[in-house]
Amino acid sequence: MINSTITIISKSAVPLKGESGKKVLLRIKHGLIESIKTLNNESSREANFDYGEFLLAPMLVDYHIHLKWPIGEAKLVRALLSSGITKCYEGGSGRVLEKPFIESDGLRVEAMRAGHGIFRKGGYGEFIGKGVSSLSEAEEVMDFLKQKGIEYLKVINSGVFDPETGGFTEGGFKRDELKAIISIAKKKGWQVFCHANGDSAIKDAVIAGADVIVHGFGVSRETMKIMRDGETALIPTLHALSALRSTNLSPDGLRNLDQLLAIHSEAVATAHEVGVRILPGSDSGPSFLPPGISFLRELEAIHNAGISYAETIGLAAGGRLREGEKASFLIIDGFSVSTVCIEGKWLEFPARKRTG
Ligand SMILES: [Zn+2]
Repeated sequence: MINSTITIISKSAVPLKGESGKKVLLRIKHGLIESIKTLNNESSREANFDYGEFLLAPMLVDYHIHLKWPIGEAKLVRALLSSGITKCYEGGSGRVLEKPFIESDGLRVEAMRAGHGIFRKGGYGEFIGKGVSSLSEAEEVMDFLKQKGIEYLKVINSGVFDPETGGFTEGGFKRDELKAIISIAKKKGWQVFCHANGDSAIKDAVIAGADVIVHGFGVSRETMKIMRDGETALIPTLHALSALRSTNLSPDGLRNLDQLLAIHSEAVATAHEVGVRILPGSDSGPSFLPPGISFLRELEAIHNAGISYAETIGLAAGGRLREGEKASFLIIDGFSVSTVCIEGKWLEFPARKRTG
């Protein structure tokens, strides 16, 4: 724990009192942010750490992740925290976490749990959820998830992109079924995140009341406007899509993948422009998408799609740095994390002393 007073100079990655990119002086005392202010020349001399051109940012949220256990809970917690992630949305698996967090060695990552995603039997979803073949079966699964205390519901309303065919695999519900499932979920007090690809499946989910669309490959401008008006957010998983490159594709598969990547990247920029809230999610869990680092790659992909750096970090930020609160913050260099401080403790990275 940082007990004595220390001061840090860095540029602010996200707007601080209206501006970003300004040099700020952060003062920490007894593990709390004592003050944070835009820097003037006189105060710079007293700083203990000067991070120069590096940026100061709040801790981050990964809005779509699959918590897989082979790597072990301790490694998982470390991988997430060292990439600046203190909160994640677990997007469905065969196992429901007992508690809304994962932890190791006194370090903790908050986990919003979907438990099992609900999918239509016979369609896509086997690895991340429970299949149902009727509305009453869906209700049974929801009752079970309610008992387990999950934080939000995940519904699968389409298949996944198959690079080899260039289309989407089978999956998803009929319009009425989906509407009924989402309305039951709302009565249970849940937000609904809907996995949906292909414009009609996405549009159905948006009209049925989904709060968030996961992936959204093939979303049209018209659907984006409905999303904006209904405040439905989009988790585009751009990096997860491009990571399919490492999965042994044929030349045709590669070409199809590149084509969708270009379309989706442009769709993300358009959605942002139209006013749809973009949420960064790594979809990490599969071996080709390691946790933590895949999220930072997703931020980079969102930025490359045409969203400014400050806005991209802002979309990922779990909150703002405020005076009087526990000192949890990051020092970042572009899209790599240089230093992590959690509740007044340095995590694994020694704080680099830049001044004399
Ligand atoms: Zn996923």
